[in-house]
Amino acid sequence: MRQRKITLGFPDSTGLVNWLGFSSAAAAVLVLGSGPLQREGSITRIGMVAGMALTLAAGLYYRRHYLKPASTRGWPADLETPFLLAIFTWTLFLLFKPLLPYPIIIPAMVMAWITLRYYWSAALPAVLAVLVIEVELALTGNQAPGEAAADLMVCALIATSLHLFPGGRLYKHKLRGERSAAITKEANREQASEMGLAGDEIAAPELLRVLDNPEITDSYGEQTIESINRSFELQLEMIRLALDLTTVAVLWLDPANENLRLRYLATTRSDINPGPYPAGTGITGALSETHQETELAGVRPSHPRLPYYRKHENIGAIMALRIPLGRKDLEIAESGRSGILCVDRQRDHPWSDRERRVLRLTAGKLGLEISGCRQLLNMDRERAAIHRLCHGLRELNSDPNLDSIFASSIKAVKAQIPADLLALCLKEDDGYQVVMAEGRGVEKVLNRKFTLEEGLVGQVIKTARTLPANGRYRGTAPVFAREWSFDTDYRSLLVIPLPDEDNIPIGCLVAASASAGIFTLNRREILEIIAAQIAIKVKLGQAHEQLSLLATTDGLTGLANHRAFQHGCGVMLERARRNKTPLCLILGDLDHFKNINDRFGHPFGDKVLKKVAAVIADSGREVDLAARYGGEEFALVLENCDLKGGLLMSERVRDKISRLNLFNGDKQVSLTISLGIAVFPENCGDQSGLIELADQALYRAKRAGRNRTIVWTETDD
Ligand code: GH3
Ligand code: MG
Ligand code: MG
Repeated sequence: MRQRKITLGFPDSTGLVNWLGFSSAAAAVLVLGSGPLQREGSITRIGMVAGMALTLAAGLYYRRHYLKPASTRGWPADLETPFLLAIFTWTLFLLFKPLLPYPIIIPAMVMAWITLRYYWSAALPAVLAVLVIEVELALTGNQAPGEAAADLMVCALIATSLHLFPGGRLYKHKLRGERSAAITKEANREQASEMGLAGDEIAAPELLRVLDNPEITDSYGEQTIESINRSFELQLEMIRLALDLTTVAVLWLDPANENLRLRYLATTRSDINPGPYPAGTGITGALSETHQETELAGVRPSHPRLPYYRKHENIGAIMALRIPLGRKDLEIAESGRSGILCVDRQRDHPWSDRERRVLRLTAGKLGLEISGCRQLLNMDRERAAIHRLCHGLRELNSDPNLDSIFASSIKAVKAQIPADLLALCLKEDDGYQVVMAEGRGVEKVLNRKFTLEEGLVGQVIKTARTLPANGRYRGTAPVFAREWSFDTDYRSLLVIPLPDEDNIPIGCLVAASASAGIFTLNRREILEIIAAQIAIKVKLGQAHEQLSLLATTDGLTGLANHRAFQHGCGVMLERARRNKTPLCLILGDLDHFKNINDRFGHPFGDKVLKKVAAVIADSGREVDLAARYGGEEFALVLENCDLKGGLLMSERVRDKISRLNLFNGDKQVSLTISLGIAVFPENCGDQSGLIELADQALYRAKRAGRNRTIVWTETDD
């Protein structure tokens, strides 16, 4: 008894289309090799190239539209590619013949590649194509017969040696392995989606990759299908033997509800047509929502056929049953997406009650198995969701720095949902600012401030409620402000508040996607948990920032304090040493400041210090460090600045301070400053030495009569 077992991965196409591609390629070989086209002349060449392009385009078109998946095509289609490649390279050969001394190298190399890429028999048509062309070339007098034979020899020699070469064999072996793995994976994925074992709840691969966790990066749907496959095959064969049946088959509707596919088969017949078959025809067409099963006994040629038999013969009785799915699956069953168990036998007796019961039980068991797998799958999905949540939260705990909290917040959300736009907004006075954003067109909103009065974001911050309630977006309501709209048509949108401990929003999270239905209830809940965590971390980060600000800035002037100056100066000096750039240190001390205090009082002195600090802070560049060095002493560290630049800066500061408009009541108070400069590396190589020299220069400025800048030099004392 010969038994054929078909599970997955047989060709979908009828073979006719494959032959079309193959014969068009063969025709091209003949045309290319034939006499008239070999004559010199640009029209001939243009014709050749156009013919080639057309053949290639036809091949590609067939592949895209009819031969999916490419790896499951029949053998003529497999030959088509080497064939086309051979012609293509021969065209190149003919075109470049007058230009290159040894153009034979082009077809020879491609021959070698074809031999490696495809199995040996697929390279044969390429050799054949070469043979035809070479012979034609020789016959039409375009090439000496000896030369043509030599060309052929070179091609054949390279191909044969590569075929026999062990490295080439290994490569081919690897390619074949990869190809068959790809076929199984693709087929499993397809089947998983048909049986409702895959769906959008499985995060997109790119999201999973974020997690870097191999444990959950495998798609569970595909794994589940493999275990179902093994179990179904066993059960079908068991039932076939027990009830003495010819064939037991399980058919499944494809997701488009157009075709039935033969998914499992236990049979003794060999005339199996692997399908797919149009849904609604033959015996399976008799099954509908109302008819859960149908049977036939004493089958005659006029009766409905079994779609998977090529010959309508040797069939005595048929029975087809719908595979019932669990309650949760009713939706899918109603839309017609369910399986059919189909059996037949040679004996034409009607089915007995016992046989019916056994078959119903079998269909029920198969259905239960799928439902069970779905439940397991759901658990797996939930496990993965929790995994992602934990991972996201762990990310959030990594760094107290506000910028990295913003970045990890976006990352944590990205791991949960396939969003095309993500933004983090924080409340500020009577509006909010977009502090972090990712996605298309966000540069228009990033770091911008908006009022709470227009837009969904403002509303969410005011009401502390997630909006829009259903996560759908029709593109009408403004999200940030009326004058700012998305470039992309987003169909899903969710603005989630970031609640503090009293549930008052400190900001919100904006997520949008061009796909509809992204924000399921489940995802929304998870995002709200993450939002709460983000809020806690942002508040902590803000507190941290505040503390470090307090520790490094001077309370009166807002400049860096002495400690921050020492630290910053060290860092800048180190950088200057590494980059071999100069650095300038300016120390300044207000002249006769004691007098000001004495005459106008300490509070007035404080006001003066603030004004001076503002002048000094404004004078420096972004990279410079301005500090309050002591009571009425200030410091400026200028990075990548030589003596000339330092002197310029010092004089500018001096000038501005001397022109400050200071009034005590209606009395104008004049103020000047003395400054000293030391330069790294000319004057000194270390920090304390440099400060010491700048201080000496300042002392010299005081001694020389104040209100001036003195540059430290060795000689002066
Ligand atoms: P010169 O530097 O030109 O030699 O004379 P001076 O009067 O500025 O002398 P000195 O540098 O010794 O005096 C510093 C004065 O700055 C002493 C102190 O009253 C005043 N001062 C220091 N810190 C503060 C401050 O925070 N607020 C106020 N109002 N005055 C301060
Ligand atoms: Mg002083
Ligand atoms: Mg002073």
